[in-house]
Amino acid sequence: MVETVTRFAPSPNGPLHLGHAYSAVIAHDMAKAANGRFLLRIEDIDGPRSRPEFADEFRRDLEWLGLEWEEVPAQSTRLDSYREAAARLVEEGLLYPCTLTRKQMAQLAFREGADGLRYPGSSEGMCGPVDPATPHALRLDIDAALDRVGELVWTNKRSETVMVDPREFGDVVLVRKDLPASYHLAATLDDAADGVTLVTRGADLYSSTHIHRVLQKLLDLPVPEYFHHSLIMADGDEKLSKSKGAPALADRRRAGEDGKALADQLREQAVIAGT
Ligand code: GLU
Repeated sequence: MVETVTRFAPSPNGPLHLGHAYSAVIAHDMAKAANGRFLLRIEDIDGPRSRPEFADEFRRDLEWLGLEWEEVPAQSTRLDSYREAAARLVEEGLLYPCTLTRKQMAQLAFREGADGLRYPGSSEGMCGPVDPATPHALRLDIDAALDRVGELVWTNKRSETVMVDPREFGDVVLVRKDLPASYHLAATLDDAADGVTLVTRGADLYSSTHIHRVLQKLLDLPVPEYFHHSLIMADGDEKLSKSKGAPALADRRRAGEDGKALADQLREQAVIAGT
């Protein structure tokens, strides 16, 4: 039987809040229940927004919650593997350079009556062959990618088989202007490299899984199972977020709150929510 390997993959661009604790506890407990492994991966490729001091706080937070984990190398140490994968996709004609921002791309597509976020092909010199000295992203030609991969599914831990349909993302960025990978490329490669068999993350990342499944097929990567847990909402049914000032776990920890009791409360909440 395949060992269960789950992971918690926070980005150190702000403190963890209750939503992260919920995610970490769920991933941790799923691994432990299966006698498997629970990994921590620091997703620190967000340029100057990624700060090591947040990652240090994350480790203290997890300890405070009473969790045990194995830490795998942070994303910033894996840039070569992202470059290699991107080069392969470029060689296969599936990525194209583009200087347009997401917003410009959407506006242009709208003007041209093109579908969603696909490059409508009229902005001479902004997508397609660009001067290599001009900062540019690499976008996935989603139509070409879908032609290549054919019909795909991914499997949800709730035993649902989901048909892959990544078109809402359009020609998604896989290599950012400033970095050798976007979240989608980096996380997909890392989950494979780390031997993750069960990707546990919040329902807010559900649709990303469509893109990740396409990338797995294009790059011959193993396919994990997925579990997208419910989200803890702030007052007014808004998603908790760092930017909206959700209380930091680190502050609660420093104020002397009992982290293990908090983890237990989150476990109860997960049962009530049916996660
Ligand atoms: N690094 C992502 C975040 O902090 C999570 C990625 C994932 O779980 O796939 O939102």
